[in-house]
Amino acid sequence: MKSDAVGASELQSPLYDEAVAQFDRVADMINLDGNIHERLRSPQRSLVVTFPFRTEKYDQVDTVFGYRVQHLHTMGPTKGGIRYAHDVNFGEVAALAMLMTWKCAIVELPFGGAKGGVRIDPTVLSRAEMQRITRRYTMEIVNFIGPEKDIPAPDMGTDEQVMAWIMDTYSTHVGHTEPAVVTGKPPSLGGSIARREATGRGLMSLLPAVASHLNMPVAGSRVVMQGFGNVGRYAAQGAAEMGCTVIAVSDITGAVHNDTGFDIEDLARHVAETGGVSGYRDADELDPTELLTLDCEVLVPAAVGGVIDADNAPHVKARTVLEGANGPTTTAADEVFRENGVFVVPDVLANAGGVTVSYFEWVQDLQNYFWSEAEIVARLREIMNRAFSEVLEMAVQQRTDLRTAALIKGVSRVADAKLARGIYP
Ligand code: NAD
Repeated sequence: MKSDAVGASELQSPLYDEAVAQFDRVADMINLDGNIHERLRSPQRSLVVTFPFRTEKYDQVDTVFGYRVQHLHTMGPTKGGIRYAHDVNFGEVAALAMLMTWKCAIVELPFGGAKGGVRIDPTVLSRAEMQRITRRYTMEIVNFIGPEKDIPAPDMGTDEQVMAWIMDTYSTHVGHTEPAVVTGKPPSLGGSIARREATGRGLMSLLPAVASHLNMPVAGSRVVMQGFGNVGRYAAQGAAEMGCTVIAVSDITGAVHNDTGFDIEDLARHVAETGGVSGYRDADELDPTELLTLDCEVLVPAAVGGVIDADNAPHVKARTVLEGANGPTTTAADEVFRENGVFVVPDVLANAGGVTVSYFEWVQDLQNYFWSEAEIVARLREIMNRAFSEVLEMAVQQRTDLRTAALIKGVSRVADAKLARGIYP
């Protein structure tokens, strides 16, 4: 029996509905054991907290909502980012935790999925306010996380500094320094030297294999990038290094277009100086809604979820969509892409480079033995490309798309583990 009541009352959000619908579809396709199907539809452990936050105006105290959701405990500790956003909610965090479970299983990492969120707008906070919120949120979830339990990482609106504050707060609480409690920390605290670039770099490391499958050259391919944050910036850089032409980039400030291609380092400097891509001198301004439907070979949504839907999907001209963001393509848009032959490399595979290098960071922290950058990058490429070729082979065999094939791989691996462990008591 499917637990619609649970989904409807506690967790409902558009992204959660999408995540469950995706999972249901794959579960039905592989005739997943009914009990396991039902069990995996809801997260195993969730914590919803509210806490007081004293703003810079000393006499104003806001009540802030925070979440930490652990979808699956079967595979090992849980792993997933923490998102700071003005509209983040329980359902969204639960959906992202479920996606993390499949993602870790697809690239065969020994983790279940988790996700966290704090409902605030980080762009209007001072550094001191960010620090206060982070430390208080960490204390609210301190017994819920830990190197053997649940290991947070950065996501939208959080960064290395936020991870450093979480690590410091947790370490102060337990009474000793504990670097392995978070990943995506600064290298001076046991962070991985290549973590910042990992998601974008891992995503672009798949392009040669994608291009070879589609019989198109990598060099000279036109790339359109939505989002120029952690993922988008390094994906754009990776694309440019492979000889692609990045012809359009957008972020929250607007969209810019240059047919001859951007100098990514220079654009990044402009963003650092002005706060966004808008106003970049060597480009034309573009209506951000037009960005996704520009004529190009490679489209990389690397910002927020739900941006490619039934309305704009029929107008997407890219041959391949590499999903840097989590959940950028709705189920309806996916149908359109299947019909139109747009080759989608799904989020659970395409952006798994971040959690893969996070896994390396956690292993290095536990062993207090650190690898060279060359070692990290080589192992990242190996894991990403192995997962891609396994998923592609399954897609070809089963005559299905890559998202379905990737989820079949992830769900089957989790189901095998659950069956092997059985039920306590
Ligand atoms: P970030 O906060 O560093 O950057 C987000 C970027 O998106 C910024 O450039 C922002 O201006 C832009 N943006 C926000 N709203 C937008 C909109 N409506 N239209 C256009 N641009 C918009 O975040 P990030 O870490 O780069 O994450 C981006 C996406 O990738 C998220 O969906 C995240 O869940 C996913 N992701 C991130 C990682 C990681 O390692 N950081 C790993 C896996 C998946």
